[in-house]
Amino acid sequence: MRNWLVIDLEATTEEGGWPVEDMEIIEIGASLVAVDGHELDHFQRFVRPLRRPCLTSFCRELTHISQANVDSAATLTTLWPQFERWLAPHLGNLAGWASWGDYDRRQFELEWQRHDLRSSLRPLPHTNLKQRFAEARKLKRAVGLHTALQLAGLAFQGQQHRALEDARNTARLLPLIFAT
Ligand code: AMP
Ligand code: MG
Repeated sequence: MRNWLVIDLEATTEEGGWPVEDMEIIEIGASLVAVDGHELDHFQRFVRPLRRPCLTSFCRELTHISQANVDSAATLTTLWPQFERWLAPHLGNLAGWASWGDYDRRQFELEWQRHDLRSSLRPLPHTNLKQRFAEARKLKRAVGLHTALQLAGLAFQGQQHRALEDARNTARLLPLIFAT
C-alpha cells in the first residue's frame, strides 16, 4: 500500500491577496496518510518570513498566526533540513504529494528556487486534489475545501487557514477522491 503526503502552506498576505511571488511561507503543515485516509505521521512548523517580516492584521486574523509565532520561528533555509529529515524515512513508500489546489506547489517551487533548496518532493508527482475532487464529483467548477467537505457530508475539523488542520481536513477527502 502506498502513502500520500498532503501539504498545506500559510503565507504572508493582505486583503485582496498578493501574487505568489510576493507571498512568503509562514507555516508548513504536512499529514502523511495511508490511502484509507488515516494519519501515519505529521509535520508542522512556523516559518519566519524575510521580505515582509511584519504580518498584516488581515493575515493574522485570517490565519490565527501571531507575530510572535513567526518572530520565534526559523527561516525556511534553516528549517528545510528538518522537513527533509522528517520526510526521509517515508519517501520509499510515498505515491506522491498532494494539496488543495495548485497554490501550495507553486509557492514551494518558487521558494525552493529562491533559497536554492534541494527538495525530495520536487521529483515526486503532485496531485491537485481540488481539481480531482471536482472531476470525481462532476462539478462545473472546483470548490473550496470547506465546501468540498460539506458536499462529502463532513464538517471542517479545527481552525481553518492553519496549515496542519487544512492538510488534515484535505486528507479526509482522499479516500473519497481515489474511490472514484
Ligand atoms: P489557505 O491554505 O486556504 O489557508 O491559504 C493559504 C494562504 O493563501 C493563506 O495563508 C494566505 O496567505 C492566502 N489566502 C488565503 N485566503 C485568502 C484571502 N481570502 N485573502 C487573502 N489571502 C488569502
Ligand atoms: Mg491553509
